[in-house]
Amino acid sequence: MDGRASTATDVKTKVGPVILLGAPGAGKGTQAKLIMQRYGIPQISTGDILRRNRAEKTALGKEAESYMDAGKLVPDDLIIRMMEVELAHAENAIVDGFPRTIPQAEAFDALLARKGLVPLAVVFDVDYSVLTERITGPWSNPRTGRVYHTKFNPPRVAGIDDEDGGPLVQRPDDSAEVVTKRLAEYDEKTAPLIAYYERQCETVHVNALGEIAAVTHAIIAKLPDTGVVTKP
Ligand code: AMP
Repeated sequence: MDGRASTATDVKTKVGPVILLGAPGAGKGTQAKLIMQRYGIPQISTGDILRRNRAEKTALGKEAESYMDAGKLVPDDLIIRMMEVELAHAENAIVDGFPRTIPQAEAFDALLARKGLVPLAVVFDVDYSVLTERITGPWSNPRTGRVYHTKFNPPRVAGIDDEDGGPLVQRPDDSAEVVTKRLAEYDEKTAPLIAYYERQCETVHVNALGEIAAVTHAIIAKLPDTGVVTKP
């Protein structure tokens, strides 16, 4: 408690985390990382947390992997439990990849309401036809981390690293077949969240196909003036 008299109006106007909503491949992760690096606002990415759990072979990671590899959403109860822990201290975080279903959004709202916070939602508008190309394009060298793109920066020989001649790999859920499933999951379960948030908090639409810096600028300009962020 800071000793300030708190009223119901105060509580309703406190702005909390920024939720990034948009189809897979729309650039949410890229923006979240840029904003974190540049403005020091922490990023919380459910996809990154799940991948870390898989790499560390935790019980959660093992449960999540078959869903992830099939391009399906991990069940709500697992995600909600995981995020209640992650979000316990996150007031101004950029949340990327969560919520992805109405039950997740309702659980998130309840958690924020207990803290008297209202989120800001950023919707990444994007034409689906470009997403598959964006997602399936990157291949990397697991030994050095060097990243290629089949269209924009291809290796001399498909699937082979120019430098060490070893094989390149793709993220398992980035194959064309799995991407189609991920987009279908998005349409069915996540896209309805746009109307959901439009009804209850400030919602900003950004053109996700615009310049990366322009998208960052559009998001930062809308961030609450917390004194932590120096706006552009
Ligand atoms: P991402 O890197 O955000 O595209 O997430 C990769 C995969 O992790 C998704 O395709 C889902 O299988 C899973 N995942 C990430 N976030 C969530 C979430 N909020 N709810 C359910 N599954 C998720």
